[in-house]
Amino acid sequence: MATNRTFTMIKPDAVENGHTGAILEKINAAGFRIVAMKKTHMTKRDAETFYAIHNERPFFGELVEFMTRGPIVAAILEKENAVEDFRTLIGATNPAEAAEGTIRKLFATSIGENAVHGSDSDENAAIEGSFHFSGREMF
Ligand code: UDP
Repeated sequence: MATNRTFTMIKPDAVENGHTGAILEKINAAGFRIVAMKKTHMTKRDAETFYAIHNERPFFGELVEFMTRGPIVAAILEKENAVEDFRTLIGATNPAEAAEGTIRKLFATSIGENAVHGSDSDENAAIEGSFHFSGREMF
């Protein structure tokens, strides 16, 4: 069932580089409503759990290292067709392949350090949102 919600993280590279405000502005301008949001710092165990689906991939160690090197901003976003529209807003995983004007084209530096996360399905959006937020933090 479509939930009309997605989950995002502004990743450590974008937070470090001072892009949090500009990214939130793009999200707001695209019509997403913030259901929940916080700045947090993932532990190694958090990142290994969150990205468990990638644990056999060659970049897994690097990804965990990257996602734990500094704070992130995690948020649950709401909008009609949220998952798909947010993936369009952020652009391709590799910023070199991302469309002009997308968040990754504007703010990412590499395929690994690519500024933002966006859930890839309604099911994962619900799982990922619940990973970071309790029901009492969603409004
Ligand atoms: N990633 C990486 N190297 C790669 C592919 C992915 O470091 O060759 C990282 C990157 O940060 C990416 C995350 O792993 O966002 C998850 O990969 P996925 O293929 O699910 O891409 P996404 O859904 O984030 O676009």
